[in-house]
Amino acid sequence: MKIFSGIQPTGQKHLGNYSGGFRQYVATQERGEAYFCIVDLHSISVAYDPEELRGSTLDAAALLFASGLDPGRSTVFVQSHVTAHAEANWLLSAVTSFGELRRMTQFKEKSDKQEFVSAALFTYPVLQAGDILLYQTDVVPVGDDQRQHIELARNIAERFNSRYGETFALPTVETPPVGGRIMDLQEPGNKMSTTGGTAQGTVLIADPPDVIRKKFKTAVTDSGSEIRRAPDKPGISNLLEIMSVATGEQPEAIEARYGGEGYGRFKEEVAGRSWRCWSRFGRGTRSCVPTRTSSSSCSRSAPRRRGPRPSRRCRRCTSEWASTGPRSLRGRPAAGGPPPPRASAGVTRPARARARPGPRSDCGAGAARDGPPPRTSV
Ligand code: ATP
Ligand code: MG
Repeated sequence: MKIFSGIQPTGQKHLGNYSGGFRQYVATQERGEAYFCIVDLHSISVAYDPEELRGSTLDAAALLFASGLDPGRSTVFVQSHVTAHAEANWLLSAVTSFGELRRMTQFKEKSDKQEFVSAALFTYPVLQAGDILLYQTDVVPVGDDQRQHIELARNIAERFNSRYGETFALPTVETPPVGGRIMDLQEPGNKMSTTGGTAQGTVLIADPPDVIRKKFKTAVTDSGSEIRRAPDKPGISNLLEIMSVATGEQPEAIEARYGGEGYGRFKEEVAGRSWRCWSRFGRGTRSCVPTRTSSSSCSRSAPRRRGPRPSRRCRRCTSEWASTGPRSLRGRPAAGGPPPPRASAGVTRPARARARPGPRSDCGAGAARDGPPPRTSV
């Protein structure tokens, strides 16, 4: 099974990203051939500072590894290092309709907040479809907000296959049963977001404990006092979901436990448990992640890949492969390409060995010219 997901290096990552992104990545990497991409080309669809983006790309890589992604098992790379992503964007835009793109809710929400609405913001889902389809992806672990985009990627793949012959695998979306859409603590009608949320309502992974406590303490709740999920209680429902993500307990069990307590104490407990969850995350400790289709809810008990772990020594200077193409993030990115398309008439399915070329580099050596990204290209 092939797994692909991407995360933008823009801004500071938050609790929503942990819930819909990081914790799912760590769990799904156990289930197949996993690709996790730092999607810097998506980040330039809104105003950005090049120098800042370079730094935050490295930060995003650090977070991915700190969350528990294993570079000996998952391919972690930067989108702009593999030029096939931009190429796929153009080719797939020829099988995507203007009407489909106009229906995307993310475009409507994000464009409302921009002074300059770029064409890239509008065609963002086509680039995302390319990201996914290039790797013959079966499963895309994401938050709920990405559902519509993954469905579009599937439609694009189906249309391409029916016009030009079986080429792409049809991806399925996978969102966590609880915590698929964490809401802003100050505006529980809006999702917590890197670029669109309120500062006080967005709990950052890098926030110190006292800041986290203050953010939860001032979280907007309704005028009642009951701790239960209900459509007319968006604030408290959100806190219950966060508590469930942080503890691994079902929301029903949490409701039963805190039923008679006031909001004040509950908010404190959510803050404490969230912080504990983060501090484990920061040390690369794997967390329990119930996903819709996984048979095991805990990645800690999943079998590890057999065979010797790859060497941790950097071989940039001694490797022939590494010396012909790769570049570090700090240097100019190399051209590269993802694995060739899925087996079909006249197309050869890539051997597993080809999909994972050459020795991996621990010093940040980038992608090989004609192969897929290296195990770790950051
Ligand atoms: P932006 O708001 O600028 O799009 P973002 O916070 O959505 O930024 P991304 O890098 O686009 O960050 O998303 C990375 C992953 O985090 C995606 O899988 C996305 O679905 C997930 N995600 C983002 N926000 C939330 C949220 N509030 N709750 C759950 N998952 C989320
Ligand atoms: Mg997003």
